[in-house]
Amino acid sequence: MPPSALSKLQSAVTQVKQVNVLKSTQVEDSPAIKVCVRVRPFIKEEVEGQRSGGECKLCIDMPSETQVRILNFDDPDDDSRAFEFDRCYWSHSKDHPFFATQETLQTELGEIMLEHAMNGFNNCIFAYGQTGSGKSYSVLGGKDEERGLLPRVVEGLFDHFAKLPQGATYKTLVAFMEIYNEQIRDLLAPADSEIKKLEVKQHPVLGTIIPGLTEAAVASCEEVLNLVDYGTQMRHVSATAMNATSSRSHCIFTFKTSLTEPDQPSKVSQTHLVDLAGSERAGRTKATGDRLKEGAAINQSLSTLARVISELAKSAKTKKKPNPPFRESKLTYILKESLCGNSKTVMMAAISPNFTDYDETLSTLKFSQSVKQVQTKAVQNAVNMSSVEAQLRAELNALKSQLQAIQDPQASDELSFLKRQDREGGCFGLCHTGI
Ligand code: ADP
Ligand code: MG
Repeated sequence: MPPSALSKLQSAVTQVKQVNVLKSTQVEDSPAIKVCVRVRPFIKEEVEGQRSGGECKLCIDMPSETQVRILNFDDPDDDSRAFEFDRCYWSHSKDHPFFATQETLQTELGEIMLEHAMNGFNNCIFAYGQTGSGKSYSVLGGKDEERGLLPRVVEGLFDHFAKLPQGATYKTLVAFMEIYNEQIRDLLAPADSEIKKLEVKQHPVLGTIIPGLTEAAVASCEEVLNLVDYGTQMRHVSATAMNATSSRSHCIFTFKTSLTEPDQPSKVSQTHLVDLAGSERAGRTKATGDRLKEGAAINQSLSTLARVISELAKSAKTKKKPNPPFRESKLTYILKESLCGNSKTVMMAAISPNFTDYDETLSTLKFSQSVKQVQTKAVQNAVNMSSVEAQLRAELNALKSQLQAIQDPQASDELSFLKRQDREGGCFGLCHTGI
């Protein structure tokens, strides 16, 4: 077989393989990352004085469900600053017209993520904000009514599965990791197992992968929640002067679903729920020694995130091809696809209501403003099983004729076809290989 025909055949086979794994149909209009803001109540530590010296002065106001204002009491000339977002959640006091509970978040964000996942769209929600601003409360939450998005989304997922029509099949895999001091830790690895050094890799077909990370196949909500409990216990928590239980690591929970309904293409999706470590500057937490080192590593991830966002936001304006430094931190490398690729992404900015946190809150709001300009390119991941079967048969036939051609160059019709195509310089399609 002439080498050029062989290389065309090989490249056609490679293309078929790629289509099989990542068949993306319907491209959505590049949607911008949706940005929400949530303001928490004053907490016990503020009221009792361990945080901010007991001073509780409300400096946030929400004139509408999409607007948040921050007031600077120190400077009477500095008018309140207003910011516009996709949605603003008031969780500071129950008597407010826009009071939002954990249930509100599930209805408005969680349910939509589930609908996306069921339809084969990737999702990501990441909670950003200073330590003690309410990130973990929004993502993981507490018990019963205080359950956060993660447990509610998982419950919703299995509720959806339970309602599937007869003959439908589904698979779910979950992974749970933290990034601590720029190292990835597998939170689902057995406690007594050797700690593996995990690295982020780019796979030409599968995209971002972390070889060696546990992906547990799960069949019920209870199983997932038990794994989340297990992983949460494995997380690094360390007391800082700001929040005794605050985690100093970034935490990423991922679930992958594959859903096949009779006579329909299979829909596959990946959803990340991310609880970031505090975005404050190190000095504020009175950190020293190891704590300071942690702070620097956390800031490496968060400062890279800021640079990535700034680069992406700039290119959205100038329409120039961006060159964001994704690889400079584990966090941004893992979230690359969520920040500019195939994903529907939401940022949840958690803010403190207290004037003592004015600077950090203002910086969170400004950062959130730039995230709003970033666009992703969500596509539906749908795999048509019957066409996959046909493609696999085509692949097999192509390989058979390749083999036959090597053994007996005169014997196969396909070969003479290939030779003809090669002479004519044409490109051959798989439909010519006898399917
Ligand atoms: P972070 O993860 O940003 O460091 P947390 O989620 O741990 O902050 O929140 C700090 C404290 O505030 C916790 O005690 C948490 O229970 C409380 N809190 C945060 N948000 C809310 C909320 N919306 N309603 C009630 N309590 C909240
Ligand atoms: Mg937290």
